[in-house]
Amino acid sequence: MGVSGIATAARLRRAGWRPVLIEKAPRRRSGGYFVALFGAGQAAAKRLGMVDAIHDRASMTRGLDLDRAGSSRPGMSYADMPGKPWLMLRSDVEKAAFSVLPDDVEIRYSTVPTAIEQDADGVDVTLLDTASDTTTTERFDLVVGADGLRSTVRSLVFGPHEKYLRRMNYMVAAFQYTGTPAGLAPGQGATLLEPDRSLWVFAFSDHDPTVMLTYRTDDVDAEFTRSPAERVRAAFGPKPLGNVLGDVIDALESADDVLFDSVEQVRLDSWHRGRVVLMGDAAWCVTLYAGMGVSSGLTGADLLGGMLERHPGDVGAALSAWERALRPYVGHYQDGAFADRRIFVADNRAQLLLRRTMPLLSRFKAGKRLADRIMRLEEIAVYKNADIVGALLTGPPERTIVGGTA
Ligand SMILES: Cc1cc2nc3c(=O)[nH]c(=O)nc-3n(C[C@H](O)[C@H](O)[C@H](O)COP(=O)(O)OP(=O)(O)OC[C@H]3O[C@@H](n4cnc5c(N)ncnc54)[C@H](O)[C@@H]3O)c2cc1C
Repeated sequence: MGVSGIATAARLRRAGWRPVLIEKAPRRRSGGYFVALFGAGQAAAKRLGMVDAIHDRASMTRGLDLDRAGSSRPGMSYADMPGKPWLMLRSDVEKAAFSVLPDDVEIRYSTVPTAIEQDADGVDVTLLDTASDTTTTERFDLVVGADGLRSTVRSLVFGPHEKYLRRMNYMVAAFQYTGTPAGLAPGQGATLLEPDRSLWVFAFSDHDPTVMLTYRTDDVDAEFTRSPAERVRAAFGPKPLGNVLGDVIDALESADDVLFDSVEQVRLDSWHRGRVVLMGDAAWCVTLYAGMGVSSGLTGADLLGGMLERHPGDVGAALSAWERALRPYVGHYQDGAFADRRIFVADNRAQLLLRRTMPLLSRFKAGKRLADRIMRLEEIAVYKNADIVGALLTGPPERTIVGGTA
């Protein structure tokens, strides 16, 4: 019952299927932090009927680029990203997806799959109800594993996590800040960028900000041996933290709901096997640096419904057409995530300097062209902001999109 799973169930119900949603947690997981919804995700959200339930929360207040010593200058916020994505909270998208889920879709909380066996006609799934400690085996026509980065469906059907997870050697701590961080005005975002580590305050026009601290590490496993705040303090080193960073790390220490994880991609040669298909982060986690996690999850859900409608009675053909259409885009997000990472956390002072000169560069024609190239403006327009599956969903059946052209 992440965004991808709820959206898939809603779309498949509309396509005439009777989905059963399985969630490990005892209730909905409505929490969340900052997410961006690029044009591709907006188009999918529109077709899924959930676009009216979300809105762009981008703040108009100019963000600040801070340092620990207390100096600040006008900075670049995520709202200034090329493509002008809508900014919101993950919880906004989760609620919107849930709002279009018909009441007759069965939901089972505290339930996990423990075995998945398939033949040509169906899939036998053994489900453990962790609340009552009971196990049942049921047969399904299709299994969609939308169970996130460390997917159980993937490990049961495709093999162990180690085969598919690619660590980027960065950590992220994200949480909601209550109120306004010290030194900032309400609705004002900020960045504090240093080589290999950074702080981002994502401000919204009508909601408290969320905070992200991200840093490079050589030993991901060691990161999980102490509390997030302790690890973050260690990553930022012994130099005095200053007003904003100090305040934010104090808030991290007492925050109730902290996302603290290593940044990892999921790479598989195929997202489906027989009647089992992976969706969203379980299949392709592009990482937060690509900014396309929610957008690609919604697009995948929308397209899967469309392809199942187009290939009635032939799940294999539907899944193949689905993957063929989506893979060039998702591959692009994954490959681009390594360069996009530098937007969030730079490698060295030279990159930071380049980034700081971007607003100045953009004032001149030649400089703007260079800045656009560095920010990969054209690629964003084609891959992230376009309705990447719209032509396939509305065009004649034989049309297939490969590599961004129809
Ligand atoms: C700091 C941060 C910033 C981000 N920023 C962006 C952004 O700007 N833009 C963007 O598009 N994306 C962003 N993302 C990523 C985005 O939140 C996800 O990629 C997106 O929500 C898709 O998730 P999903 O539904 O596929 O998986 P998940 O959200 O992980 O959902 C999986 C669900 O499956 C359940 N589950 C797990 N295991 C089992 C099991 N064994 N049995 C039953 N249920 C199970 C989980 O409880 C969960 O409900 C960001 C992520 C982070 C950490």
